[in-house]
Amino acid sequence: MPTSRYLGLEAALSHKPSVFAKPAGKASEYFGANVFNQKAMREYMPKEAFESVMKAIDRGDKIDRGIADQVATAMKAWAMAKGASHYTHWFQPLTGATAEKHDAFFEPTADGYAIEKFNGGMLVQAEPDASSFPNGGIRNTFEARGYTAWDPTSPAFVLADTLCIPTVFVAYTGEALDNKTPLLRSLQAVDHAATSVCQYFDKNIGKVHATLGWEQEYFLIDEALYHARPDLVMTGRTLVGHSPAKGQQMEDHYFGSIPERVIQFMREIEFESHLLGIPVKTRHNEVAPGQFEFAPIFEEANVAVDHNSLFMDLLDKVASRHNFRVLLHEKPFAGVNGSGKHNNWSLATDTGINLLAPGSTPKRNLLFLSFFVNTIKAMHDRADLIRAAIASASNDHRLGANEAPPAIISVFIGSQLTEVLDELEKLESGKMSPEKKTELKLNVVGKIPEILLDNTDRNRTSPFAFTGNKFELRAVGSLANCSHAMTTLNLMVTDQLIQFKKDVDAQIAQGLKKDDAIFNVLKDYIKASKKIRFEGDGYGDAWKEEAEKRGLKNTPDTPRALDFLVTKDAEGLFEKHGVLSKVELHARYEILQEEYFKHLQIESRTLGDLVHNHIIPSAIKYQSVMSENLLRLKALLPEATFKKTCKEQLDIIEELSERISKALRHVEEMTEARKKANTIESARERALAYCDTVKPFLSSIRYEVDKMELIVDNETWPLPKYRELLYIR
Ligand code: ADP
Ligand code: MG
Repeated sequence: MPTSRYLGLEAALSHKPSVFAKPAGKASEYFGANVFNQKAMREYMPKEAFESVMKAIDRGDKIDRGIADQVATAMKAWAMAKGASHYTHWFQPLTGATAEKHDAFFEPTADGYAIEKFNGGMLVQAEPDASSFPNGGIRNTFEARGYTAWDPTSPAFVLADTLCIPTVFVAYTGEALDNKTPLLRSLQAVDHAATSVCQYFDKNIGKVHATLGWEQEYFLIDEALYHARPDLVMTGRTLVGHSPAKGQQMEDHYFGSIPERVIQFMREIEFESHLLGIPVKTRHNEVAPGQFEFAPIFEEANVAVDHNSLFMDLLDKVASRHNFRVLLHEKPFAGVNGSGKHNNWSLATDTGINLLAPGSTPKRNLLFLSFFVNTIKAMHDRADLIRAAIASASNDHRLGANEAPPAIISVFIGSQLTEVLDELEKLESGKMSPEKKTELKLNVVGKIPEILLDNTDRNRTSPFAFTGNKFELRAVGSLANCSHAMTTLNLMVTDQLIQFKKDVDAQIAQGLKKDDAIFNVLKDYIKASKKIRFEGDGYGDAWKEEAEKRGLKNTPDTPRALDFLVTKDAEGLFEKHGVLSKVELHARYEILQEEYFKHLQIESRTLGDLVHNHIIPSAIKYQSVMSENLLRLKALLPEATFKKTCKEQLDIIEELSERISKALRHVEEMTEARKKANTIESARERALAYCDTVKPFLSSIRYEVDKMELIVDNETWPLPKYRELLYIR
């Protein structure tokens, strides 16, 4: 147990017992109990209103005002029965967090009484005073107001005493100010493009939706220790701290049993998630000590993204009930495994087909191959956009750091499918003989097994891996809102599928049979996208060299990765499919660049404070104790003995002097670099200045501090150490 040198330690020692007791019932009995789902809607709503909402969900139909009033009345009755007294429009502004402003149902009447009021107008639209949310200049240029609007495709829910209504957040002039709006637009775009390609194979398919299954990694640390680390409080990561003698090298945490305190916490998270209809299913220890993961069963992507945002909030809330803090930062501890959020993505039809799962017939597999190859081609053509979509100051610490996917985007598909694509690539162009086609269908396409065994050993080093029935985007950061990655993926695939349809139709117009045309186009795509496929070790240096030869980009930092968002191609792509206008895209770009340098600014200031107010004073205290001692020894001991036995102690004093001096000098230089960067007007240029001239000091200062941690008296050291933070008791 750490000694009394930390603030707030008493709190850690007197853990308040958790109020949580696992409910008696089965999960199936209370799953979704706090969600205004179909079951609740049926119970509380007139048939007409219910059908109207279902049409809005299935087909995007508008809900008229009269119906909205009926829905609102039903929602209020249901929510009040659940104990709700307030409601909020729940949205995801561009800060990456979730936002809510609670209003009471309660309203006084003229005659001195009060009623609970909630009508269609209040359900459908609200105007939060949102002037301090980031907007990238949109609302300055246009109109100062923004409003939230109900998203009927994601169900309302009750959290504590509040009815939460998922909404989009847009400027008065219609520009998106949130993460949900572009996601919804991309889902619509991919639906149209994919449904139209599905028509080649099955006329019954009327709608395609994207699916997402996220895997959330996080660290858990003791709350009192967290409060004793200003860097964790201010930045979410440790800016200093030497690796412990025992890190993850024994690999015992991954296999180890979950500590009792953590299990209690996990049980409560599961319970709370299930009440909210978040289908969390697996929980386990991760690679690093103190690191864990939760994963739900996949859902329709819009709902899954909302659920992930909600889940991140829940983690925070429930953790504090157990005297824990959750760290969602991608790299809270240097030298220890970082945290990601794998985004498992696929496309599913309204007829129940997973378009990225092979089937049992050649026809079904040609459908699978079409979506499979088009996804690879999309990734080949627009890998840069995915790199931009996962870029953040915190994820930069993880990408390419030898334990996470590299910053180079590539696609892993496994040897079985590689063989299939290699076969198809050999096809000759043009018409196929009936024999050739039969052979191809039977021996290549027909042979793709429904279960791809080879993918069970998944190449863990790939940023985008095909894992049997879905693609797994592993480069997404643990802190990220999944919507960036999902919007981008949907958009890229949309554009590719539209191109595919055009190319196939062109060949059909030239007299080719449909199947021949599809084979021909797929063959061309397989050839054209070959360089994005990589089956080897993505962590090795050899891959960096190889990737460079192939012309694949390795973009290790955020400001440069973000530049991919504002190329002519990107602008055209986002605009063409109605996902983001040029104005919206540029606004986002500005916000992300700003977010980057602000993040580094806070880290740099915090580190400066730590060094001046915590580290150096402790180092000097210890140095002066040692010096005092040496002076006394010098007076006491014969000179020869002093020289012979005290040299090592003198060395330590000297080393401390040197490190103190270097640390202080670097802090001064870092402050200068920051001052200079702060005079730069353009967000991009300022972000670059922070990246290139401020960020390097974070490492060089840390180096000196971590060395001092090794020599300064443990009693004197002012911060909880890694060995104390990482091992939960
Ligand atoms: P792991 O990668 O940890 O071995 P799984 O492969 O079983 O785990 O699943 C990881 C995630 O992928 C889960 O959230 C799961 O629901 C999700 N998943 C499975 N099938 C699909 C799909 N068709 N679309 C999207 N996500 C899926
Ligand atoms: Mg995974």
